[in-house]
Amino acid sequence: MKIYNVLHRRKEEFVPIDGNNVKMYVCGMTVNGEPHLGHARQVITFDMISQYLRYKGYNVTYASNYTDIDDRIINQSKEMGISPLELADNRIDIINKVMSKISVTEPNYRPRVTKCIPEIIAFVSDLIQKGYAYPTENGDVYFCVKKYKGYGQLSNRKIDELINSVRIESSEEKNDPLDFALWKAVKKDEFGWDSPWGKGRPGWHIECSTMIKKFLGDKIDIHGGGKDLVFPHHENELAQSTCENGCELANFWVHNGLIVVDGQKMSKSMNNFVLLKDLLEIYNPEVIRYAFILNHYTSTLDLGDNAFKQAEKSMYYFYNVLNNVNNALQGKEYTHNDNIVKIFESCMDDDFNSAKLLAELFTICGKLGKYKDLTLVASLKYAIDQFKDILGLFRQDPQEFLNEVKAKYVKQLNLNVSEIEKQIELRNLAKQEKNYAESDRIRNELDAKGIMLKDTIDGTIWDIKQLY
Ligand SMILES: [Zn+2]
Repeated sequence: MKIYNVLHRRKEEFVPIDGNNVKMYVCGMTVNGEPHLGHARQVITFDMISQYLRYKGYNVTYASNYTDIDDRIINQSKEMGISPLELADNRIDIINKVMSKISVTEPNYRPRVTKCIPEIIAFVSDLIQKGYAYPTENGDVYFCVKKYKGYGQLSNRKIDELINSVRIESSEEKNDPLDFALWKAVKKDEFGWDSPWGKGRPGWHIECSTMIKKFLGDKIDIHGGGKDLVFPHHENELAQSTCENGCELANFWVHNGLIVVDGQKMSKSMNNFVLLKDLLEIYNPEVIRYAFILNHYTSTLDLGDNAFKQAEKSMYYFYNVLNNVNNALQGKEYTHNDNIVKIFESCMDDDFNSAKLLAELFTICGKLGKYKDLTLVASLKYAIDQFKDILGLFRQDPQEFLNEVKAKYVKQLNLNVSEIEKQIELRNLAKQEKNYAESDRIRNELDAKGIMLKDTIDGTIWDIKQLY
C-alpha cells in the first residue's frame, strides 16, 4: 500500500513502525464555531483512512483532539456569561452529534487541551531545559526556531525565505522573529493556568505535540490534518516534538485538500461557510459523504450546491442498482468471486484513491445489463459488503434509501404519493378501455409535474424525473 507522504513529497510504501500496530493522529477542530464543510472533509477523509487500514488487518489507534480553548472561545463565553470550559463542553456535544452522522467510527481518543495542561507545562519545561526554548520577562515562552536545523522541511521552505515573510510585531519580546509561542502569559483576571512562568495559556502548536506524546507515544505512523495546517502548525509541531523526543514525530504526513464553494475560498471574511448541520437538513448523510469521497482526498474540492445535487443523483442511481442486485439474487443459487474486491483494493492501496474506486464501481454497474450474470451480480454485492464501512456508503437498505429520496422530491414537487398512485390507476383503467387519448393525457400531465412513468411486466412504476 502506498501513501503520499507530504514530508518527502512522494508516494511511499506504507510500513508501520511497530509490526501490525498503526498509530494515527489528526489535528481536530477548534471548538469556536460549528462544523463546516472543511471540518467535514477532514473527518470523512481520516475516518475512511482509519477504516481501510483496519480492513488491511492493522491494529489502528486513532487520536484526534479538540482545541477547547482559544481567544474566540473565551470572548464568546464572556458574552454568554458562562465559563469557557462550559461553552466548550456544549460545543463538543453539538459537534459530536453532527459529525457522528457522517462518520462510521469514532477516533479511539478525543483528547482536549484543557485536560492536558500539566503535560503541556512539563513539555515546555523540558524544551527550556534542553535549550530549545526560553521564557521572557513577561511570562511568555518561545521556541527558538534556529536551534532546530531541520526547520522548514515539512512545508519545503528555507529559513531565510521565512524570515522575510514573518511580520515582526513590536509588542512581542521574542529573540528572533521566527520563534513561536509555546506558552502565552495572561493578565491575573484573565482565563488561564498557573505555571512556572506565571499565569498563562498554552500556544496552539504545543498542544498537539503533547497530546501525541501522551496518548500515542514519541513517534507515530501517520500525522494528518488539512493542507492549511502544514505551515506553521505542523512545521512547528514537528520541530518541537523532534527536539523533545530525540526522534522524528511521524513517518507519514498526510494532508487533505481544501474546500472552495462555487470557486470561492471558504473564509471568515467571505462569510461563505456552509455548515454541516444545514446540509444534513437537506441531504442524506451518505449523499454528503459521497460528494467528498468522489474526489481524491488531496484534491481541492469545489462543493457548491450543485455538487450535492449531483451526488444525490449518483447515490440514487447506485442504490437502484443495489436494489436490482438484491432482487436478482433473491431465492436464487449463486456463487461469488473476489474480482471486484481486488479492483477496489488496488484503488485504495494507491493512496486511498476513493475517486478511482467509485469510477470503477460505475463501470461495473454498467456491465450488469439485465442482471443475468449472477456471479457478477453476487460478486458486486460481496464487494459492496466488504467496502461499505470503509466508504461509509451503501450502508442503508436500498429500498429504504430510494423511498426516502423519492418522498423528499414528491414533497418538493408539491405532490403526494397516493395522488400519483391514483392517477396511475386511472391510466391503467383508460388503457384497459383502449382510451389511449386519456391514458396519454394522464402520462403527460404527470410528466409535466416531474413524475415519469415506466411500464414493466410487473406493472407501471413511477419515479422522479429530476433524479435521472
Ligand atoms: Zn495539531
